Amino acid sequence: MDFHHLRAQFPTLEQTLAGYPLCYLDTAATSQKPKQVLNAMARYYENDNANVHRAAHQLSSRATSNYETVRDKVCHFIKAKQREEIIFTHGTTESINLVAYGLTGQIKSGDLILIDTAAHHANIVPWQELAKRTGAIIKPIPLDSECRLDETAYEHLLQENPFIVALSHVSNALGTLNPVNRLVALAKQVGAITLVDGAQAIAHLDVDVQAIGCDFYVFSGHKMYGPTGVGVLYGRFDILDSLMPLMTGGEMIKTVSFEATEFNQLPNRLEPGTPPIAEVIGLGAAIDFLSALPREVIAKQEAELLSYLQTQLKQLGDITLYGANTSNIGAVAFNLADEHHQDVGILLDQQGIAVRCGHHCAMPLMQSLGLKGCCRASLGVYTSKEDIDRFIEAMASVKEMLL
Ligand code: PMP
Repeated sequence: MDFHHLRAQFPTLEQTLAGYPLCYLDTAATSQKPKQVLNAMARYYENDNANVHRAAHQLSSRATSNYETVRDKVCHFIKAKQREEIIFTHGTTESINLVAYGLTGQIKSGDLILIDTAAHHANIVPWQELAKRTGAIIKPIPLDSECRLDETAYEHLLQENPFIVALSHVSNALGTLNPVNRLVALAKQVGAITLVDGAQAIAHLDVDVQAIGCDFYVFSGHKMYGPTGVGVLYGRFDILDSLMPLMTGGEMIKTVSFEATEFNQLPNRLEPGTPPIAEVIGLGAAIDFLSALPREVIAKQEAELLSYLQTQLKQLGDITLYGANTSNIGAVAFNLADEHHQDVGILLDQQGIAVRCGHHCAMPLMQSLGLKGCCRASLGVYTSKEDIDRFIEAMASVKEMLL
């Protein structure tokens, strides 16, 4: 694999900021987009732009065919059983909301919802709203001393027969990896409905939803080299089909009269209105981009870079790493002594280095670590060893400035 050729696919990376070449270490927030994705979206608007599913004309059938082909691509990419199990949404947040709202009629007062303490707010707040509507109860699954999900505590909580178990595949704040196959299998033994948030896993790991065994798996296009504004809800057919639609309107119906409306079959039933057509096509191009890469080689390189990053940060001194395990995926969380994470981020930015600072939409996790926030450096397929070296050099100068 020619790394320089790969990196050259990303036009945004070829710029300077304040006289420094951009060093983008914020891929966990959103990845940069390869030309392949940008071109596919431009091609759609330039040649094929029409609404899908509706008209008899050729342009619309071309747009529909391009759009529906991506459903097959996603199905194949995550190894789902059938294309009707793939719902296009606007992102992970919407996907989880669709499930949490859709289960409203199925969960009762007093039923238990277990949520990973490291969960992103998108995998917490929709469940809280479900609990408010229904009287269900939420309990967090604690973390162990290494910031991994505490499996002993989890097994105890499972004895309470939860109705829903909501897990992260990879934590966006820390990069810690959950052994989701095992965790889901345990949840299934007690009959729980399982949702895995794959927003941070999908670009890095080979995801097989049937092997994981979860009922729902969700992710966003923009974290896997695709555009913003598109995401995926995978659901096992029967349970997906049982969800009450969050949004209703055109496209999701079979017949409408003023007396009654009959909803359409999956997948249309959960895709009301005009979908994000260009974005779905961009997502298809992102899947093509990822699928053409030697993913095992890339994963090995990313793991080596992450380990190098963790070691270099430790060697710098006065750095606290959070949940830095060897199995982590794509991100490292840290603070410099008692310095405010935002100050560190701003000083890094002045040297062209983009990292994320804050609570990372994971306030309960930050509380469990006794933190208001931290900095996070995250990696993508285009991250080089030179990026890490520049970041460490910049951190050394930030340390000199602040300490
Ligand atoms: N879950 C995780 C683990 C995430 O990292 C993110 C994005 N930061 C989300 C959910 C929400 O994704 P989106 O904003 O694309 O809906």
